[in-house]
Amino acid sequence: MSFADLGLSDELLQAVEAAGYSEPTPIQAQAIPPVLMMKDLIGIAQTGTGKTASFVLPMIDVLAHGRRRALMPRSLILEPTRELAAQVADNFVKYGKNHDLRMALLIGGVQMGDQVKALQEGVDVLIATPGRLMDLFERGKILLTGCELLVIDEADRMLDMGFIPDIETICSKLPTNRQTLLFSATMPPVIKKLADRFLENPKYIEVARPASTNTNIAQFKVPVTARKKRDTLREILRTDNVTTAIIFCNRKTTVRELAKSLKRNGFAAGEIHGDMDQSARIAELDCFKSGEINILVASDVAARGLDVKGVSHVFNYDTPWHPDDYVHRVGRTGRGGASGRAFTLVTPDDAEAMENVEKLTGGTIPLFGEAADIEEAVPAFDEAESAPAPRKRASRSKTAASAKAKPAPKAAAKPAPAPVVEETVEADTPAPAPVRRAPRRRTEPTVAAPVLEAAGDWNGPIPDFLAVSAVS
Ligand code: ADP
Ligand code: MG
Repeated sequence: MSFADLGLSDELLQAVEAAGYSEPTPIQAQAIPPVLMMKDLIGIAQTGTGKTASFVLPMIDVLAHGRRRALMPRSLILEPTRELAAQVADNFVKYGKNHDLRMALLIGGVQMGDQVKALQEGVDVLIATPGRLMDLFERGKILLTGCELLVIDEADRMLDMGFIPDIETICSKLPTNRQTLLFSATMPPVIKKLADRFLENPKYIEVARPASTNTNIAQFKVPVTARKKRDTLREILRTDNVTTAIIFCNRKTTVRELAKSLKRNGFAAGEIHGDMDQSARIAELDCFKSGEINILVASDVAARGLDVKGVSHVFNYDTPWHPDDYVHRVGRTGRGGASGRAFTLVTPDDAEAMENVEKLTGGTIPLFGEAADIEEAVPAFDEAESAPAPRKRASRSKTAASAKAKPAPKAAAKPAPAPVVEETVEADTPAPAPVRRAPRRRTEPTVAAPVLEAAGDWNGPIPDFLAVSAVS
């Protein structure tokens, strides 16, 4: 299967080739033809399977014909975070380089003046986070009645962040005869309901779930009493050849307390949860990326947007309450063909939650410590003697000079390569209280761009297109 078999235009195929993609991913191969035929579509596939291009590519061809109109975007893409929105915008720049398309990006942390101006002049593609879009809509700066194509991307994260009511409102403002595409890693009931209500006779595409198909991940249940959880965790951390690990807890307070306790016990641990502001989270991620810490204790929502590659272990310090979270958590290891190990601590109170996990993933997860498992699935156990001792966390208050004097973290002798982390930091907000309508700050822009300006309170990575030119 090649991109040329999917019905895309020659101009687009050239841009795809220039971007270095040789073959469509399964979700792309299945989604692109129906989107080109202007059908509604539900696309379910885990994170990292290439969902973005599965709608960006056909959209570019669908939008190639037709005229821009003032105030009325021709298509709308909803993204849960500004980082994801910026990534999608980057994709339009990359693949739309042979097309005459204009876009605008409506996200928090960026001044709106130029975005509003772009909208007034007319755009083909509007990429927005729901809160920011609602804000502008309520102020009459935008009309959605000309919008023929709607994409609801990362629907399950939208749910986590409490955006579903906003999305329902936005959907009801669009013309009913539009085309609607919905993408998600999982399909919880609320998303199913949303799709039933706002999509018409959609084509349903699902690419197999990771936890049920990724045989690279050895998964174990560890029966434990609540009092013994920390001891048990430390024991496995010390004896199972852990090079890099993410440890998930169900509550933010547990994240904090566990990270503190691990540090006290000599582990190079850090934490990430929703009570930290974005710059603190990014700083912590940088430490994890550089290998300064090799254990990251995390809450679900804070960690969900992270594309972390090369993590040897995932621990569920708490059995997750929602089985979908298990799939998300465990999918952090065993990526790209590497093998990984996932341990879930199960107290007697967690029995029912664990049953739900096993129902979803379609199999019994073996108990850790059963002789057969250790021989067959746990070769690392034999090497426990040679397992690296937990690393002490290096001083965080490194000055530029001392950082230079020391060898770069990458060059230092390490038991394993540092994980690669792509930051997409999200708020850890409970579902009913969406993070939106961030206070508008009047900060001077730091990076000028033809259509947009990045404001000073942008904490995420600056997307390329903000520094170069936007689609014109
Ligand atoms: P998702 O939205 O499913 O989480 P993305 O669309 O963000 O995934 O894609 C994940 C990564 O895969 C990106 O780095 C993207 O550039 C890369 N990718 C997407 N499609 C292809 C392809 N056909 N060939 C190679 N890499 C691809
Ligand atoms: Mg995506």
